[in-house]
Amino acid sequence: MESIITIPALGDNFIYLYRYNQSDSLAVDPGDSSLVLRILQEQGLSLKMILVTHHHWDHVAGAADLKQRTGCKIIGADGQRIPGIDSVVKDGQILPVEDRKVRVISTPGHTRTSVCFYVEPSAGNENGILWTGDTLFVGGCGRVLECNAQTMWSSLQRLASLPDDTLVYCGHDYTLENYEFASGIEPGNQIVKGRLEEVRKLQEQGKPTVTSSILQERTTNCFLRAGTPEMMAAIGMQDAKAVEVFSELRRRKDIF
Ligand SMILES: [Zn+2]
Repeated sequence: MESIITIPALGDNFIYLYRYNQSDSLAVDPGDSSLVLRILQEQGLSLKMILVTHHHWDHVAGAADLKQRTGCKIIGADGQRIPGIDSVVKDGQILPVEDRKVRVISTPGHTRTSVCFYVEPSAGNENGILWTGDTLFVGGCGRVLECNAQTMWSSLQRLASLPDDTLVYCGHDYTLENYEFASGIEPGNQIVKGRLEEVRKLQEQGKPTVTSSILQERTTNCFLRAGTPEMMAAIGMQDAKAVEVFSELRRRKDIF
């Protein structure tokens, strides 16, 4: 019965609607309320809660309106900067949703208070589900804005250590650009090249480039590969620490 509806919004954002039983759903990062309301109506769903990964406007702009119209609760980790927040959550906290558990994973880096939400696997649902906001993208990662590279790197490592088959749903469709960047860094990497071609096809067909898996990200996301000898060699930093390689990759991506 459960399903995830991906709602492209605001140009390159993704809003997610997670239907967890016959009639109830939660929304993740609703930057636009009208798109969510339309789908709720079409599918006959009620909205029980909103999960917010971080306070940036394109992730929260529709939340207060949705709360007013549906009576849902707004949940996030920044009590000061998320408008209309009802519940401030912390790392490791478990939110029960039907018969599944949604675990809060603190992932500072993009902002000081960024979190990801991880739906743990359960009986009958072998795949975990991970909403990553602007921390981990398909093929990339968010800009490091309020923290240093070490903090962001540690957050990404936490996500990379989740089970291989975890489904990754990120906050923006930057996938094509991410793999173009990665192919430039490692022109000889055939797996990355294959991904780039795959993503180009998806875009040509007007399809969203989510979802991915943690395994796919660990093998093809250049930022998660910062600690590998291949990546160190590719950018000429053979003797560097993984975090230094990550920082250099992030610097190059910022000006890409
Ligand atoms: Zn953001």
